[in-house]
Amino acid sequence: MSTQGEKNLVEGNKEYAARFTQGGLALPPAQKYAVLTCMDARIDPAAAFSIPLGAAHVIRNAGASAKDAFRSLVISQQLLGTTEVLVVKHTGCGMLTFQNEDAKGIVAKNKGSEAANEVADLDFLPFADLEQAVKEDIEWLESKAVEKEIGFTGWIYEVETGKARRVV
Ligand SMILES: [Zn+2]
Repeated sequence: MSTQGEKNLVEGNKEYAARFTQGGLALPPAQKYAVLTCMDARIDPAAAFSIPLGAAHVIRNAGASAKDAFRSLVISQQLLGTTEVLVVKHTGCGMLTFQNEDAKGIVAKNKGSEAANEVADLDFLPFADLEQAVKEDIEWLESKAVEKEIGFTGWIYEVETGKARRVV
């Protein structure tokens, strides 16, 4: 018996592949930019931000964290030629709802002390203020030597309306 995720993948991919025609795209993103956004299931970056296939890197993690995405951003720019990053956090983000100690407490409760030790030094990178978090991530990226010459903008996407607005 397959899971819902497997079922979606197998059946959906069959239909997708049957009408797929874009097998000849180049590896480097054609429009030379990267979008960093949250893994939140309510965000459809390709649709919401109008990204054609092959045009841009879309990097996702919990909270659209620049620090968490740094490895991918360096690869995107230095190896694959992107020159612009759009950081898009969003309203209703789960990262606004807990602090490091809460997450560690949940792991300890659910999984025991061995698991708790594994996350003891982990910064889950939660934040308390959405706009401030966007600004801080942009400042952090601009402070990195490897990111010089790269254009950064920061945005907030509203999961309630589908609208994105620029913050910085
Ligand atoms: Zn989020």
